Amino acid sequence: MQNISVIGSGTMGNGIAHVFAQNGHKVALVDISQDALNKALATIEKNLDRQIKKELISEDDKKSTLSNITTFTDIPSGVKEADLVVEAATENIDLKLSIFREIDENSSDNAILATNTSSISITKIAAVTKRPDLVIGMHFMNPVPVMKLVEVIRGYATSDETTKTVMEMSKNLGKVPVEVNDYPGFVANRILMPMINEAIYTLYEGVAGVEEIDTVMKLGMAHPMGPLQLADFIGLDVCLSILNVLYDGFGNQKYAPCPLLVNMVTAGYKGVKTGEGFYSYTHGTKELVLADRFKK
Ligand code: NAD
Repeated sequence: MQNISVIGSGTMGNGIAHVFAQNGHKVALVDISQDALNKALATIEKNLDRQIKKELISEDDKKSTLSNITTFTDIPSGVKEADLVVEAATENIDLKLSIFREIDENSSDNAILATNTSSISITKIAAVTKRPDLVIGMHFMNPVPVMKLVEVIRGYATSDETTKTVMEMSKNLGKVPVEVNDYPGFVANRILMPMINEAIYTLYEGVAGVEEIDTVMKLGMAHPMGPLQLADFIGLDVCLSILNVLYDGFGNQKYAPCPLLVNMVTAGYKGVKTGEGFYSYTHGTKELVLADRFKK
């Protein structure tokens, strides 16, 4: 598997391109505008410099990694040569289905098509292609160059051979792949999102404040970040949409998103990306905000 195409060059896509290119693969990185691709290349360069500073790689490694990446603004040219396509475009089901139809039509018949989706059914994505046995979930974690886990998700029709190839490929990238089946939230988000939702309920019901809840989980459970800070980091809109996938997929009340989360997203408090969520980030640091906003 020499040639990899990565569709989408945002937070995850540029990290995925970085890791494949660093491990000697030729990477075709695709996004809708050259501007987005230039930003992605600048981010990859900055992250490579960070690895040099930490003495993890050399200047030559940086040069060869960057020389392995070519950019494209259309899917047909970007996937033509691919042995493996990893889709990391915006989390939107209609968009992903249309991207997969386009990839399926324009890539070689035996290319494996993977998606980095956090929550959309792999089986549903596979069903719009003519090769559901070759479609699989490859769920990298953020930041991709640092985080070891790859959740490898088998759709209902994914073949053993496709799974084996992707497991081996992930190991060759220095990652630890874990094989799971395709049910709502897979494993990572099925466990993480109810914990975050429960932390938000705990705040909403006035059991404790933001800092208290995060401190209990950090110092008591050895989590590197409290659940409310983590929710801000992931994006409160993303947390809400994944909880809705769990709620709709299982039809179980226990996944119902906390009304406080719904209100915050509706009002535009989406966490780090909008400058405010459970904490304020407007001054470049994490600060506590008025507790009254979180009361029931
Ligand atoms: P992002 O918004 O940072 O990047 C998405 C990119 O996709 C953008 O650059 C956008 O221009 C591009 N795009 C949109 N339509 C496109 C198209 N038709 N063709 C090519 N590119 C297109 O999003 P992200 O956070 O990188 O998330 C990408 C995927 O990874 C999502 O499925 C998300 O659920 C998943 N994911 C995200 C995280 C995370 O922490 N951010 C973690 C794991 C998985």
